Amino acid sequence: MLWSGWGDPALARELPEQVRELLREVLGVRSPDAPPVPLDSVRLPPATLSAGQLEALAGVTGAEHVLTSHEARVRHTRGKSTPDLLLMRVGDGSDAPDAVVLPGSHEEVVALLALCAAERIAVVPFGGGTSVVGGLVASRSGFAGVVALDLRRLDRLVSVDAESMVAELQPGLRAPEAERLLGAHGLTLGHFPQSYEYATLGGFAAARSSGQASAGYGRFDDMVAGLTVATPAGTLELGRAPRSAAGPDLRQLMLGSEGVFGVITSLRLRVRRLPAEKVYEGWRFASFREGSAALRALAQEGPLPTVLRLSDETETMIGLARPDAIGGGDTGCLVIAGYEGASVAERRAGAAAVLSRLGGAPLGEAPGEAWEHGRFSAPYLRDSLLAAGATVETLETAAFWSGLPRLYDAVRLALLGSLGSPLVMCHISHVYETGASLYFTVVTAQHGDPVEQWARAKEAVTTAIVEAGGTVSHHHGVGREHRRAYATELGPVGVEILRAVKSRLDPAGILNPGVLVP
Ligand SMILES: Cc1cc2nc3c(=O)[nH]c(=O)nc-3n(C[C@H](O)[C@H](O)[C@H](O)COP(=O)(O)OP(=O)(O)OC[C@H]3O[C@@H](n4cnc5c(N)ncnc54)[C@H](O)[C@@H]3O)c2cc1C
Repeated sequence: MLWSGWGDPALARELPEQVRELLREVLGVRSPDAPPVPLDSVRLPPATLSAGQLEALAGVTGAEHVLTSHEARVRHTRGKSTPDLLLMRVGDGSDAPDAVVLPGSHEEVVALLALCAAERIAVVPFGGGTSVVGGLVASRSGFAGVVALDLRRLDRLVSVDAESMVAELQPGLRAPEAERLLGAHGLTLGHFPQSYEYATLGGFAAARSSGQASAGYGRFDDMVAGLTVATPAGTLELGRAPRSAAGPDLRQLMLGSEGVFGVITSLRLRVRRLPAEKVYEGWRFASFREGSAALRALAQEGPLPTVLRLSDETETMIGLARPDAIGGGDTGCLVIAGYEGASVAERRAGAAAVLSRLGGAPLGEAPGEAWEHGRFSAPYLRDSLLAAGATVETLETAAFWSGLPRLYDAVRLALLGSLGSPLVMCHISHVYETGASLYFTVVTAQHGDPVEQWARAKEAVTTAIVEAGGTVSHHHGVGREHRRAYATELGPVGVEILRAVKSRLDPAGILNPGVLVP
């Protein structure tokens, strides 16, 4: 992973000249290209852990699994939001941990948490490092130092229960490796977020991730049958049956807990058979409103495709959604519908009847194949846009169907009001019987300090989301960025419950201080 940007540096994408022209002409981007500083010029805070504390950490994991090099610290600084990348590009490593610790077992995680609680060392559970909400930035205040607890050594497929269709996997497995291991058994999770190449199973559970095929395979939290969680207060084993009436479901307390209650050290996940057949196709709708109505009909009446997404007029036109695939001029709005697994022809025909009835025009498989081909490539373009002096960032929310148009308008207005004349694009890519998520991509010229510029815009949007009745996050999580608005969403009693759980499981407050809990 590129330390100052996204992904494999070999896959870096040059900005096409017409995009540069668009940035100049439409957005007024004037800045000259600004490359990131070299890695060894990144400024880090002085490491404050004592030699004795580092030795004690090494006593648990072995000295080779405690990293204190400049590069290891840089690579575990923050996550991959646009502000995170902007700060790294100018060499600001002020949130770096003192050390990176790599536990090799659940028992080592338990021992490390006990040691860190006794020594008042803050611990940041670290999966793939792809958080976009500040989920990997711990407050140093009041602590002897900060360690990143990198779970990459917990990377095994432990067992497969083919009868129950449940597999036990470790949290440090990155998604492609998990798919490779399950694929050898003819199985898949079906979880393909845009961060697929780097994010881990533990991170998916800890941040309640949702993948591009959520209509067919469900969100990641739907897949979690059981969890093992190491907390400073002891180990939790959760989930012993597919459903249970034995009181509240404590798995739900751990899903989305973003490392503040404990460290997920094992996951029992529902798996599916690898699909024998996959077909992706495009449909055109005249407007976002008509397209939304068609998605709602599929979500409520079926048959539901495995992948279902609708780009608004701007996103369709700008080409994230390949407008060339649906002709020039009035492009309308592009729907991608994908079918995987059993009864593909039947489900496709059933969905086609609904889409046609509600005004859709079929575009064939070319737009679907183009989407599938480029489904993980947009984050690479972000680095090129940042280098060219444009800020590009994404944000997301969700609401019930009846509230979706108001939420859409509120977010757009807040972005236009706070950024002048940005490009605002939106799509729906996660649908439910009762509602859907809205995912926005914003491109704007940088004025002044781009981190502050975006912080102001994000504040305005988050306020607008809360006022319009949306949730502060459908799948990115809370982190530090949404903590204040999350408190509003939860209400005072909800906040007290979270704080009570935190103080019972983590009385020294070492786990991810400053994240999630208001
Ligand atoms: C380019 C890009 C595209 C993205 N696309 C999507 C998308 O399509 N869908 C989506 O849902 N998200 C997406 N995300 C957000 C991100 O990938 C998800 O939140 C993902 O779940 C994070 O996984 P990770 O392994 O990288 O976790 P990290 O970023 O390492 O950690 C995320 C949070 O979970 C905690 N944590 C990590 N592992 C554990 C553990 N084992 N136990 C306890 N706590 C833990 C961390 O402390 C942190 O608070 C995207 C991010 C980027 C940068």
